Amino acid sequence: MKKIGFIGLGAMGNHMARNLTKKGFAVTVYDLNPEAVQSLVNAGAKAAESCAAAAQNADIVITVLPADRHMKAVMMNDNGVFQGASPGTTIIDMTTLSPHTSIEVAAEAQKRGLFFLDAPVSGGTIGAEKGTLTIMVGGEKQLFEQVRDVLEAMGKTIYHVGGIGIGETVKMVNQILVACNMLAISEAFVLGVKLGADPDTLLNVIKVSAGNSFLIEHRLPNYVFPGDFEQPGFALDLLRKDVGIAMDSAREEKVAISLTSIVYQMLTQASSAGFGNMDMSSVIKVVESSAGV
Ligand code: NAD
Repeated sequence: MKKIGFIGLGAMGNHMARNLTKKGFAVTVYDLNPEAVQSLVNAGAKAAESCAAAAQNADIVITVLPADRHMKAVMMNDNGVFQGASPGTTIIDMTTLSPHTSIEVAAEAQKRGLFFLDAPVSGGTIGAEKGTLTIMVGGEKQLFEQVRDVLEAMGKTIYHVGGIGIGETVKMVNQILVACNMLAISEAFVLGVKLGADPDTLLNVIKVSAGNSFLIEHRLPNYVFPGDFEQPGFALDLLRKDVGIAMDSAREEKVAISLTSIVYQMLTQASSAGFGNMDMSSVIKVVESSAGV
């Protein structure tokens, strides 16, 4: 059975590492938060003292960290993965971050005889818990096939989408669409309701019309209509981070993403107003407030 070093046991990683343990993989975990480590030890994993120690003797190292700088530090700092891992080890980074960071770190990994896949996920904490995540994998196809069993322990829909960085690119495209769609829903519904339309009637009609979307079906009934954003399915600050990655990439590639830029500013406004840790659909509160409702 493959030996796995798992680093980053937060809202997503905790469930993902747990599912690997349940499927019988030998999992050694590390996180800065000792409580998160202990919860995995209780579930049958081994604890490591550092990122390097988690990577030692591992066939595969998985990282699920907040953002680019955390992933780079975990890989390249003293006592990091690169120090602990033996040549031939495969690193699967499942953090949502910039495709440029994946390419940069993969090149450093290659110099040390390590293999690298970027494999961000979609499906939220519920998907992580149920093992039903969508996983978008960039890197060599053959390497992907070698670790497919590991990915299948965490996800249900698993795609090899291209070379290194393309996993993160596909995720970025998804996040742009999520953010723009959430703002479009917010503006359209706030205007409609202010004009006197009943929100439930609006939802029922849009659900069977061309304007329908996944977010309309999930965010309106579960968060917006009850007005309860406290338990985030996906936190607003995470979406803001993801749209920020898209803005950086667009600047680098000289692609004008005007609509996305406006959406980024509105997410920033919502974050400053205190909604950062709430569900991303709470951005509608900014639209409501500027509409005076
Ligand atoms: P999180 O903040 O809950 O967890 C991150 C974990 O990394 C924490 O436990 C933290 O202690 C640990 N960590 C940070 N720096 C570390 C270091 N140097 N060494 C060891 N551990 C370290 O984040 P999350 O919600 O689990 O998200 C992880 C990634 O998955 C993010 O990139 C996010 O954008 C992406 N994602 C999240 C969701 C979601 O619904 N939460 C959905 C899809 C994708």
